[in-house]
Amino acid sequence: MSRRSRTAPRALLRVLGVEIVVHPSWLASFALVAFLAHRELAPGLASGAAARWAVAALFPLAFAASVLAHEMSHAVVARAHRLEAKRITLFVFGGVAAIGGEAPRPAAEYRIAVAGPLSSLLIAGALVGISRAVGSPGVAEALAFLGLVNLALAVFNLVPGFPLDGGRILRSALWARTRDRARATRLAAAGGKAVAFGLVGAGAALVVVSGGDEALPAFWWALLGWFLYGANGSAARAEGGDAPDPGPRARRARGAIVASHEGDAPEPDAGRGG
Ligand SMILES: [Zn+2]
Repeated sequence: MSRRSRTAPRALLRVLGVEIVVHPSWLASFALVAFLAHRELAPGLASGAAARWAVAALFPLAFAASVLAHEMSHAVVARAHRLEAKRITLFVFGGVAAIGGEAPRPAAEYRIAVAGPLSSLLIAGALVGISRAVGSPGVAEALAFLGLVNLALAVFNLVPGFPLDGGRILRSALWARTRDRARATRLAAAGGKAVAFGLVGAGAALVVVSGGDEALPAFWWALLGWFLYGANGSAARAEGGDAPDPGPRARRARGAIVASHEGDAPEPDAGRGG
């Protein structure tokens, strides 16, 4: 089990009884998204330096709202299956919903896992649809960009790398087929490790192929792989037991970008495990 950060997180707000917590590392993603939005989108939306930065600062907030919508969907469906959904944490790679207990059946696991990407897809479709109807090219471009962000949330999380949503969907299918939850978890976790190594490898390959020009995205891919590797180990240990219900101590989490065991999740360097 990785070290736990028990510096009692303070809830920013509460939505449908779920605590929303912002981890300090989220500020890094705020800064990065605001920087990119300022460079790419703000010129079409506002004139003047101050106005452009003010507009750019709205994008990380819209991104956070997209992540929250994704996580809330997991939380609401989990609750419908009588599981506890206490807290959503925003952190540098996205968000994590802490769900207490295990889904009783593969079908419940599938529904909880698919709810997040499905909501992201619906939001993406709505934003792209609205962007087509908007007159101002700058606003249309911004809405279409946010639509793409939500589409990316859906697609990345559907990658079958346990504990990403796609990996949980894969586990639910293996569970239904083998009727052996522990075995399904081991198989899905092995797939998740492969995806994590693949991300690190893709980052390294991108540096070599681009001759260093794509160092920033390459570093991001590698970091994401490293984090996924740690989340994979934590989740596999927490959820790999043979008992169908490991009890209230065992919690699991789902992320809009990556998911991890509750308590480890908000640390971007929790990946080392041990
Ligand atoms: Zn998700």
